[in-house]
Amino acid sequence: MIIIDGSEGEGGGQVLRYACALALLTGTPFTIENIRGGREKPGLMRQHVTAIEAACVIGGAECTGLAVGSNSLSFRPGRVTPGDYHFAVGTAGSTGLVLQTILVPLMLADAPSRLVIEGGTHAMAAPPFEFLERTLLPVINRMGPTVSARLVRHGFFPRGGGRIEVDIVPAPLRPIACLARGDLRRVGATAILAGIPFDVGDRELKTAAKTLADWPQDAFATRQLPAEQGPGNALILEAAFEHVTEVMSAFGKIGVPAERLAKTAARRMGGYLACDAFAGPYLQDQLLLPFALAGDGVFSTVKVSQHTLTAAALVARFVGRGFRFRSCEDGATLVEVVSA
Ligand code: ATP
Repeated sequence: MIIIDGSEGEGGGQVLRYACALALLTGTPFTIENIRGGREKPGLMRQHVTAIEAACVIGGAECTGLAVGSNSLSFRPGRVTPGDYHFAVGTAGSTGLVLQTILVPLMLADAPSRLVIEGGTHAMAAPPFEFLERTLLPVINRMGPTVSARLVRHGFFPRGGGRIEVDIVPAPLRPIACLARGDLRRVGATAILAGIPFDVGDRELKTAAKTLADWPQDAFATRQLPAEQGPGNALILEAAFEHVTEVMSAFGKIGVPAERLAKTAARRMGGYLACDAFAGPYLQDQLLLPFALAGDGVFSTVKVSQHTLTAAALVARFVGRGFRFRSCEDGATLVEVVSA
């Protein structure tokens, strides 16, 4: 039994999702206390409960303490059973983060799975659908499994109502090296609007264009969705290289000017483009689990996040394999799988 203090490191929901995945992958039970102890409102929120419920369903796990607001829980994994599953967060809680909890266990199962996940697809502090589809899954697919995802309906905060479908064909994970990006093939900035005035998207694109000054004019576009999918707004910035596509995003929020959120996302993309690392600030923590399970491998990344350090420490406790972080002269960091 592994005992986790959920307030350590990043102190957010990610440690919980990774712990469930790692428990299913290794057969090791865990107890976690001080859940999301580093957050303003600690304890389980609806989206975390759905993610853990999904882990229980696919992994025949038993869980005590699983309720909104709970600060501690115990998770005893069973056997991972591939199949057709449908999970609904019930709020705008992230569909991508439910997927983050169960993807790797199902990728290593003994038969394919098909998932339908309902909730938020474009909400703060979580991977938007475009990131899953274009950034994360292509790397996973290079490692052996075949995972494809479709966005059926957008879901924004606070309404949710989004839907993604994911097909998973398992295969053993092979170690890979993700070091070079290759040549830049395409860039794009899309302001997505659902029931939000066109002008908001226009302002976001104009602001992003100031930071991303060398992007061509036709790289900037507005996409209007049916109003009933909103209200909602997201700005998706994409840089597609030969070996990796990075997606940076920002999400409209009442009280936050369009210019401010666009500037944040554009600066993040500018920071990524200014260095040579393969993985951006979010891909790095999401690669740790598949890389650790592959048993070997290396990737380069931008400045290492607290999410990554926290996840790396957790992975080492479950699989007895850790990561070495080495700073390179060009400012990138090499993240290598090592025996713990
Ligand atoms: P809380 O912080 O409220 O506990 P949480 O459960 O959403 O929230 P975090 O611990 O913050 O969890 O983890 C968020 C996860 O979402 C991380 O894996 C992070 O890499 C990913 N993520 C956050 N924002 C983005 C983004 N814009 N693009 C891609 N991935 C993202």
